[in-house]
Amino acid sequence: MTSNGPTAFDHNKVTVVYVLGGPGAGKGTQCTKLAEDFDFCHLSAGDLLRAEQNRDGSQYGVLIRTCIREGTIVPKEVTSKLLENAMAAEIQSRSSHRWPSGKGRFLIDGFPRKMDQAELFDEVVCPASLVIHFTTTEDVMVERLLERGKTSGREDDNIESIRKRFRTYYDQTMPVIEHYSKLSKLVEV
Ligand code: AMP
Repeated sequence: MTSNGPTAFDHNKVTVVYVLGGPGAGKGTQCTKLAEDFDFCHLSAGDLLRAEQNRDGSQYGVLIRTCIREGTIVPKEVTSKLLENAMAAEIQSRSSHRWPSGKGRFLIDGFPRKMDQAELFDEVVCPASLVIHFTTTEDVMVERLLERGKTSGREDDNIESIRKRFRTYYDQTMPVIEHYSKLSKLVEV
């Protein structure tokens, strides 16, 4: 999808950093620390989707639940809009103290997981300045997710869903990482 109009946020004022990595790579844990140390707002696409799934009256609840259980990608329009709304709310709420004049700094965790999301968000919402990619071995990721699954209550921290999430990551998310690497916007950790 392309757009000739301005993006929802001015990228001279709003900094967007995408944070990617396989399931269990440590994206959420590291984002929490980075957000505290560098005054970023941490937005997790997965958390926003889970909140929307549980919101009374959401038209997307069933769709989101099915995608999460199957480890597949929720349609780009849904994820992108949830992020845009959350960014606008955060800019508004911090405007009187830390972020004057529409400024903002966002770590967007678990997004974009597919090329179409990257294109849509960069063109319609706000272009990313940087992409951080966390990597480790699949064995480590599986071990962490199964451990987390004992207490997380997440429907997708089980071995069947984990296998599907890995497949989605290799098939759909790796091309996104390669895309930003070619643009020299990628940092590997
Ligand atoms: P996470 O919390 O990052 O592990 O994501 C859990 C699940 O939420 C994924 O397996 C997808 O089903 C869905 N999800 C998370 N982020 C996205 C995204 N950017 N686009 C579409 N679906 C997503």
